[in-house]
Amino acid sequence: MEILLATQNEHKKAEIIEILPENLQLKTFNDFNFEGEIEETGTTFHENAFIKAKFGYDLTNIPCFADDSGLVIEALDGEPGIYSSRYAGTGSFNDNISKVLKKMENCSNRNAYFISVICWVNDQEVKYFEGKIFGNISSEISGSQGFGYDPIFIPNGYIKSFAEFSPKEKNIISHRAIALKKFTALLKNNYLK
Ligand code: IMP
Repeated sequence: MEILLATQNEHKKAEIIEILPENLQLKTFNDFNFEGEIEETGTTFHENAFIKAKFGYDLTNIPCFADDSGLVIEALDGEPGIYSSRYAGTGSFNDNISKVLKKMENCSNRNAYFISVICWVNDQEVKYFEGKIFGNISSEISGSQGFGYDPIFIPNGYIKSFAEFSPKEKNIISHRAIALKKFTALLKNNYLK
């Protein structure tokens, strides 16, 4: 079965392909020469995941899913939230991290979570799958693996940041892995019999 992941981000594809069933052909926008930007005008992770998945399905007519994810920090009233990827305005991971660390300089409450919302769209249904991982924001960066806010996120029960996890290790416990496992169960039960 062929399905489309509504992204141009090959890093996301690489993380996701590890978890999905093997007998799937996973396509991305890069397979369709789509280079435009989808305007994520939603006010929630669910709305933005839907906008991307629906766009992908309408463009290709291939059953499509999209992941919208981000970091939610308690002491910053949920920021960076849906604005995670462009929090500092430049799109640079380092700038985003610096902005978070600066804002949290005097915060003793370091609670945060990563969330991933997957939306699946085809001609029969629209479905959502959610995964969260709770942890805390460190006061310094550490580690060089992963992407985004990984160097400042320490998952509960660990003493190292996500950027110190191997990709395999992260893929076992991450927010995206939790959401994807739920999505995989739907594919196995309803589409890949
Ligand atoms: P999206 O591509 O619109 O879902 O943007 C997600 C943004 O949230 C990324 O650009 C990162 O800044 C952040 N993010 C989401 N998942 C992770 C993760 O696993 N590690 C670090 N940052 C993440």
